[in-house]
Amino acid sequence: MANIILVTGTPGVGKTTLAKNLSRNSEIKLIEPNRLVRKEKLYTRFDRTRKTYVVDEGKLRRRLEELSRSSEGIVLPTHLLGRFLPEGRVKLALVLRLDPVVLYKRLRVRGWTKRKAWENTEAEILDVCLQESRLLLGPRKVYEIDTTRKSALAVYREALRVLSRGRTGRSGVVNWLARYVPLELERTL
Ligand code: ADP
Ligand code: MG
Repeated sequence: MANIILVTGTPGVGKTTLAKNLSRNSEIKLIEPNRLVRKEKLYTRFDRTRKTYVVDEGKLRRRLEELSRSSEGIVLPTHLLGRFLPEGRVKLALVLRLDPVVLYKRLRVRGWTKRKAWENTEAEILDVCLQESRLLLGPRKVYEIDTTRKSALAVYREALRVLSRGRTGRSGVVNWLARYVPLELERTL
């Protein structure tokens, strides 16, 4: 049974917050891919220059498959999509969106450098996570939620409604490119 709920979106949009809320009051297990990789050593080596572990995608995929089989469901917050995802077991991807200006400020408050904050803001403007989800899972399994000016609780309630109705996909709810010109925005931030 497809019981993996993916919570995706640009870093800073609120994935972890939503995933925690979804798992808190239900049988759904929260699996944070990065933590799982470190805890169970699902990596091939440590990359010293990038200061990160290189994920063993095959191992992670098999582990996620196993966890999905042995539980009611799992919720997976991640901005990366790829071969490590057992896509056949994914029920729905919730793609969280956030106004790029709000996102940029949030990343700066988190202590990110201007450059790193901007790179991610640009990825948000260009719908990177949305497009990757649609390519990997098909548009019917992708549900976009604009979180701008919504509290974490409001986003959680919206996600619950989507999941309980077993709705099919929805995308195209935001169009940041119609509102912002990336090069102009970069100068004003
Ligand atoms: P992600 O996992 O996508 O990087 P987080 O869940 O860690 O995002 O949230 C990033 C920051 O934004 C945190 O400080 C969090 O408390 C805050 N946050 C999350 N959701 C909201 C929201 N709906 N409104 C305002 N702030 C939020
Ligand atoms: Mg997170």
